[in-house]
Amino acid sequence: MSFLEYAPAPESTAVLNLKDSYGLFIDGEFVDGTGSSFTTISPSSEKRIAEIASASDEDIDRAVAAARRAYDKTWSKMSGRDRGKYLFRIARLVQERARELAVAESLDNGKPIKESRDVDVPLVASWFFYYAGWADKLDHAGLGANPRALGVAGQIIPWNFPLLMLAWKVAPALAAGSTVVLKPAETTPLTALIFAEILQQADLPAGVVNIVTGAGATGAALVRHPDVDKVAFTGSTGVGRDIARAVAGTPKKLTLELGGKAANIVFDDAPIDQAVEGIVNGIFFNQGHVCCAGSRLLVQESIHDEVIDRLKNRLSTLRLGDPLDKNTDIGAINSAAQLARIRELSDIGEAEGAERWTADCVIPEKGFWFAPTIFTGVEASHRIARDEVFGPVLSVLTFRTPAEAIAKANNTPYGLSAGIWSDKGSRILAVADRLRAGVIWANTFNRFDPSSPFGGYKESGYGREGGRQGLTAYLKGAAS
Ligand code: NAD
Repeated sequence: MSFLEYAPAPESTAVLNLKDSYGLFIDGEFVDGTGSSFTTISPSSEKRIAEIASASDEDIDRAVAAARRAYDKTWSKMSGRDRGKYLFRIARLVQERARELAVAESLDNGKPIKESRDVDVPLVASWFFYYAGWADKLDHAGLGANPRALGVAGQIIPWNFPLLMLAWKVAPALAAGSTVVLKPAETTPLTALIFAEILQQADLPAGVVNIVTGAGATGAALVRHPDVDKVAFTGSTGVGRDIARAVAGTPKKLTLELGGKAANIVFDDAPIDQAVEGIVNGIFFNQGHVCCAGSRLLVQESIHDEVIDRLKNRLSTLRLGDPLDKNTDIGAINSAAQLARIRELSDIGEAEGAERWTADCVIPEKGFWFAPTIFTGVEASHRIARDEVFGPVLSVLTFRTPAEAIAKANNTPYGLSAGIWSDKGSRILAVADRLRAGVIWANTFNRFDPSSPFGGYKESGYGREGGRQGLTAYLKGAAS
């Protein structure tokens, strides 16, 4: 059963009622920050959307104090059954406001509305439904003798799936009985602030979830705060390293979800049409702003030309443009800085000798755009085979034998995800067993479910989100 089936959406409201400026959400209310502010813009038009408060160290103090009070006085005292009711209520409200959330997400992030509407927002609801179901069963789930909530969690999320990353972090923390201070990414704060309105609608007790907007310095202040018991971070490997250093030597617990450079391995016995769709979904979904994107295509030499021809034909049918148009397949790049990084790495790819092919798309005048791009003839030593581009750029390498495919797939400092395309179940299992990746898809790619733990090996981080493992990350003394 898919997540869409088990959470039928009630009638959703369509109106997007944005404010001109947003404060911080602390202790159940929107309050003015004591720091400066910044503007969030739409990456497809470069137009201003709203002014957003930038939380200062003093604001972080207030937010953490509110989370601590809420933890001590209400949330840790409440029965799991009652916590679960709040989570169910939040899930239903997300469904009721699904269209509004999808439009806000596409506006602020640049992703196509068909993705925010059909993937991001339904998954957000499914995460809250899933963890709502756990809340009253913690004592009976074999999690250890006496699982107890950790206390106050400081959570920092990136811009590629703004509301979904919030759900991945907030839902298990609340189910476990922890309270939260969450910092969204600076280019995509909007849906977290609408989510704060949803928390008010749900009558969630004040201080259980606090939302503090701002850039890296705000995140760093949250990480440093002495009254935070756990830090959960999703973002780049570089910042993840800084956070690990800041937390070292303190009693804080830490989980890190970092970058990736996934291999999508296509064997010559794979169903080719299906594999081509999976390659497209693997790297061009969400403009390739996906940590587990299938950014390295490893294709068996004998079918290389056929796969690449079909891929180019398929890419020629994709429509790039307005994220709010329901026919759009490829939206905007999230920021000018990200676009510059994608351009730089692509230019390096060409300079290092790989062959560049770009889909023939009309690029709008305003906004940040990058047409789907394929590099063939990529060598393992090329930067585009090693560095995370985090954009719609596919690097193609070839292999002859399964052993060579495995060696090439594992030849990366990352280890978040991988894909295997083959008609033979035995081959899929044998290869999967030897891949050093936290998530492995077979004859599909980029599928997510709240019951499946997600996380990486090596420089992709540690800890798991989703499923029972995602819950134990917010419990003291729980066996995962
Ligand atoms: P980023 O690391 O620059 O920022 C992520 C978040 O951390 C933002 O909210 C940012 O404001 C904050 N931040 C920045 N500096 C900080 C500091 N010193 N201390 C505390 N917080 C700080 O990453 P990004 O550019 O927003 O996101 C892209 C990266 O995230 C990619 O590398 C991608 O692979 C990774 N990512 C990983 C996953 C995963 O689940 N593993 C999911 C999404 C994105």
